[in-house]
Amino acid sequence: MKLMGRTALVTGASRGIGRAIALALAEEGADVAINYVSSEGPAKEIAGQIQKLGRRAILARADVGDFPDTFHMAQEVLKEFGHLDILINNAGISSDKTFVKMDHASWRRVLAINLDGVFNCTKAFIDQMIKRNYGRVVNITSVIGQIGNFGQANYAASKAGVAAFTKSLAKELAGKGITVNAVAPGFIETEMVAAIPEKVQHRLLDQIPLKRFGRADEVGRAVVYLVSSDGDYITGAELSINGGLLM
Ligand code: NAP
Repeated sequence: MKLMGRTALVTGASRGIGRAIALALAEEGADVAINYVSSEGPAKEIAGQIQKLGRRAILARADVGDFPDTFHMAQEVLKEFGHLDILINNAGISSDKTFVKMDHASWRRVLAINLDGVFNCTKAFIDQMIKRNYGRVVNITSVIGQIGNFGQANYAASKAGVAAFTKSLAKELAGKGITVNAVAPGFIETEMVAAIPEKVQHRLLDQIPLKRFGRADEVGRAVVYLVSSDGDYITGAELSINGGLLM
């Protein structure tokens, strides 16, 4: 097992990609804190699955868009685990509308969770990583942040912001034993993709060279690669998992 003795927190781990990442980390031996904002039942269920693997799992409720709430959650996690080795900033939302129809509230909500959320969570955990001279941070971006998308100006801007944040932090923290990377999924079989109308899904599949959507567990295993010793020489990277959609 590649992550035995490591402690991790995954934001937005109650479902979708975050859930798969939490499971993949636990399967490699990590103890995992499950962050969520409202889905307590599903978060408990994933914690139970992790405990069955013989690992520790704790619930860590917080709205990552709210700094005091996130900071408080981080203190609780550090009290339970003693320290945090691995931070996965995965929580994210979309609120799609063409720019002309997009109101300021929708812009702010997406930026608050997708971009401020990454700042808030990283800020809350980074000092203890620096003190221990070890840390692994992975931020989940998106192919949409790389190419833009009709109706997703807010979402695309938030993800491009996270990608630039990742590279800046990677440079600042490289001398402190901390790597900071991003994983940019394309279209992954989750509730987010299930919500896309079937006709649009077919059009998307036509554009994906591998002719299928990705699976959440495929993203989970890529994250394990980056945070295990296999990824020790990788920092500031944005790893695309998109079936060839962007190359
Ligand atoms: P999802 O199924 O909608 O799950 C979102 C997760 O984020 C849930 O656990 C949710 O918790 C949590 N969350 C939402 N707002 C939060 C907040 N304010 N504070 C804390 N947690 C919050 O999403 P997904 O499709 O798995 O996507 C996960 C990440 O991958 C996102 O950053 C997304 O942008 C990115 N991504 C997804 C795809 C895709 O195809 N699905 C592609 C590229 C990138 P609750 O259940 O408690 O609400």
